[in-house]
Amino acid sequence: VFDGKKLTIALCGLGRYANVLKGGIAASQFCRLAGIVTGTPAKAAQWKKEYGLPDKNSYTYQNFDQIANNPDIDAVYITLPNGLHKEFTLRAAKAGKHVIVEKPMAFTEKDCQEMIDACQKAGVQLAVGYRLHYDPHHIELKRLGQQKVFGQVRLIEASLGYRLDGISPDDWHLKKAMAGGGPLMNLGVYCVQSSRYVLGEEPTAVTAQFGPVTMPHLFKEVEENITWQLHFPSGAICTSSCTSNCNIDRFFASADEGYFELEPALSYGPFKGRTSQAAFTFPVVNQQAAQIDDIARHILSNNPLPAHISGVEGRKDMRVLEGIYKAATSGQKVKL
Ligand code: NDP
Repeated sequence: VFDGKKLTIALCGLGRYANVLKGGIAASQFCRLAGIVTGTPAKAAQWKKEYGLPDKNSYTYQNFDQIANNPDIDAVYITLPNGLHKEFTLRAAKAGKHVIVEKPMAFTEKDCQEMIDACQKAGVQLAVGYRLHYDPHHIELKRLGQQKVFGQVRLIEASLGYRLDGISPDDWHLKKAMAGGGPLMNLGVYCVQSSRYVLGEEPTAVTAQFGPVTMPHLFKEVEENITWQLHFPSGAICTSSCTSNCNIDRFFASADEGYFELEPALSYGPFKGRTSQAAFTFPVVNQQAAQIDDIARHILSNNPLPAHISGVEGRKDMRVLEGIYKAATSGQKVKL
């Protein structure tokens, strides 16, 4: 396949998620880690050694643009804090590299569009790191919802939260400029997106409420928790919470003739599913390996990426996230 060629990836920002992704790359069929971009010399030394990477494939944020002259690298996978996603997508595109950018794609729908345009202009592909599309439990959720296996879905509850009381007050997740917001920015795309793909519809209006701040020493700039309701054209409603003060990870859909649910639902799994008829589970997959292999298959065969992981999909999610913040801030129902 592909004449034995693999998609060569440079990971940009060697933090927690880059360390998860390196396992995904190792487990993939069609990808190879070929480069790194880091601001921490000790990490550069360690990763170069671990992967036998030549010095010329190791970049800093300052000399990153020189990656344009490096034929060893096909794609840059951006695992930087949210506030740097746009800048590095634009720089990678300008360097002629395909881009995979982590969620949330950016802070605004407008920024997402700029990123899409820049990649299009540069003739490179743009993917968002939407791993859940590759988990069989979520493929099943889509089937149950979109094919109306239990009839029309009327109500979805999809929530994700982690208690962050041990986090350093200096962590970028708590800084508006780097995070863009609190748990909505960091986790919200999963709730919004699962409701969109289970219903196969785009929400038309949103109401939302910020919750109380219970850890004021941490949550000075971004929300600690937020609850919202998306209204869909079919009349279905999705109610969700994203929170940093408790642990929650569940998806539930009530339809005319039954229900289906996952819990855990939106993390890395292993997931457990149940319908009104029976329990269901699928074999555990490496979400990251499956995701990047699908990206590689499309790029290596010169085909456009599937819509569900494209920049356009990221932009659609961002439009909803912006609407949720607007609704929570104004206390008004916001049309999308
Ligand atoms: P980390 O803080 O663990 O890592 C971010 C890395 O970015 C740092 O280690 C650092 O790497 C680099 N960096 C560059 N500039 C800064 C800066 N100003 N402040 C902090 N770090 C900086 O974050 P995560 O890995 O948890 O998250 C990174 C991205 O991945 C986020 O956008 C997040 O939303 C996303 N993510 C996605 C997940 C998913 O399931 N799809 C799961 C977790 C995160 P270096 O030292 O190499 O310069």
